[in-house]
Amino acid sequence: MELEKKKSLPVIGRFAPSPTGPLHFGSLVAALGSYLLAKQTGGQWLLRIEDLDPPRVIPGSADDILRSLDLFGFEWDGEVLYQSQRSERYREVLANLQQNHLLFPCSCTRRELIASAPHSGEDGPIYPGTCRQGVVGCRQERALRLRVPDEEIRWRDLIFGELHQNLQREVGDFILQRADGLFAYQLAVVVDDIDSSVNQVVRGADLLSSTPRQAYLYRCLQQPLPVYYHLPLALGDDRQKLSKRHGAAAIITMENRQQALWAALQFLGQSPPKDLAQADVSEQLAWGMEHFSPSAVTKEQQLVPAFGS
Ligand code: GLU
Repeated sequence: MELEKKKSLPVIGRFAPSPTGPLHFGSLVAALGSYLLAKQTGGQWLLRIEDLDPPRVIPGSADDILRSLDLFGFEWDGEVLYQSQRSERYREVLANLQQNHLLFPCSCTRRELIASAPHSGEDGPIYPGTCRQGVVGCRQERALRLRVPDEEIRWRDLIFGELHQNLQREVGDFILQRADGLFAYQLAVVVDDIDSSVNQVVRGADLLSSTPRQAYLYRCLQQPLPVYYHLPLALGDDRQKLSKRHGAAAIITMENRQQALWAALQFLGQSPPKDLAQADVSEQLAWGMEHFSPSAVTKEQQLVPAFGS
């Protein structure tokens, strides 16, 4: 019998920033990790702007992020995908899930849920199943939720190892379309990754808690799960996840970009030579392509290093 050679698919990775501000150190780490892990094997690296939630979008910041990525010499493949242009597709997928009786309308307000949910999960109150059997009385149907099973969802993260979560007990049926009509991040991210044939997801560990919900959605849509790498979180000096509140300290500029890229390589557990910190970013990226090793990445969250602003 002929030995069958196991052919692995070419990697299709992506970077999916939300345009809620300029590129900061945390997003640079995600961009760098996802870029090197895709490009090192000759794969593709796609770019998607997650502008799904208009009130959170800051005008001009998508272009700002694209300019910063350009500044580092990150080259993305194909056209940039904007979630704000994908509503038709999300609607179609929701209709499909609805036909398969996987969704139900819910009339609960957030305030009611906080009052009635006995426990709170990592991402807010655990949905107690109030509208599972139908909306009570003539209350207004507000959001669409995905019915989740009472079973452990298991997946393997290539940095964090084997993980599992019981969605019903720890999250509850979750929202795919919000009361205000906006599509939920969980839906959009999975549909976009499927439609773009993404098979490798590299992103910050703050999204680790979303992964079991997304893994269950892949199952509902009968699609194979991508490979996951969740990268350590970069914390501000108050030990909180980086956000606008941390101001300019973690923002990438034309002037600090070399030190920032060097610091991002080191943040990811790599050991870039000291003199590389002064080198051009193209040289730093080339070093990363040659030397980046995912086994050196740890799961420990770390403070943002000083890289000069
Ligand atoms: N848009 C998300 C963020 O900026 C990332 C989503 C993802 O990578 O799945 O944090």
